[in-house]
Amino acid sequence: MLRYLFVDMNSFFASVEQQERPELRHQPVGIVPMLTDNTCCIAASYEAKARGVKTGTLVREARTLCPRLHLVEARPRLYVQYHHRIVTAVESCLHVDQVCSIDEMYGRLMGAEREPQRAAAIARQVKAAMALAVGPFMRCSIGLAPNAWLAKVASDMQKPDGLTIILPAQMPAAIGKLELTDLPGIGGNMQRRLHLRGIYHVHELCRLSADELSAVWGSKVHGAIWWHQLRGHDLPYRPTTAAPSATRTFCPRSGAPSRGPMPCWCG
Ligand SMILES: [Mg+2]
Repeated sequence: MLRYLFVDMNSFFASVEQQERPELRHQPVGIVPMLTDNTCCIAASYEAKARGVKTGTLVREARTLCPRLHLVEARPRLYVQYHHRIVTAVESCLHVDQVCSIDEMYGRLMGAEREPQRAAAIARQVKAAMALAVGPFMRCSIGLAPNAWLAKVASDMQKPDGLTIILPAQMPAAIGKLELTDLPGIGGNMQRRLHLRGIYHVHELCRLSADELSAVWGSKVHGAIWWHQLRGHDLPYRPTTAAPSATRTFCPRSGAPSRGPMPCWCG
């Protein structure tokens, strides 16, 4: 049964600029914190990504990779305005339970919404509402899954404009071919710890027992969380004291909320 719908905006900052400025549409765009060569791109349009420019690419290198690149200075206030319009568009289809970052949010599916066909229809409604109320250049990838963590993983599996469904019966095969670092919560350090234990692939991670996962993470609680989330189990909701989204501000570099504790594993 599906329980969560996760929305991840595609190339968010660059898409806002393409929505706002028609001359940038279908063009390679790199968003920078300031117009100088001594900085890096904090976002790139899909046209720029196709030429090798990505978040973190130095401006000098980006110009070499893509001589026609349009460099645009970030407008954080505009991106926050778009964020609120996007939350409203999603809310018109499904209640947003959690805003994870400036371009990521999820809602819980209830009753008949949990049927795959109905859930997929809601996902398509979200995309249509976004195009109508915010703009056709604001595309998103949506993940549908039995827990919020897997829904985020699913939203990352098809970009841009993706819709990926992971059913409980498809676990762990549905994510078996991903890289370890494709999983939220596994960064470079954790990847190294897993490598030291001979775990190089997600399908190997999925075979570990809760005790083995606890040993890797150095915590019984985290071991149990990973064992359950890898099996699609819906873990109890963990309340946070994050600021309500109406007053939340975001880091223009990462898009993560810049006030209050992080609400979850996003950002
Ligand atoms: Mg995104």
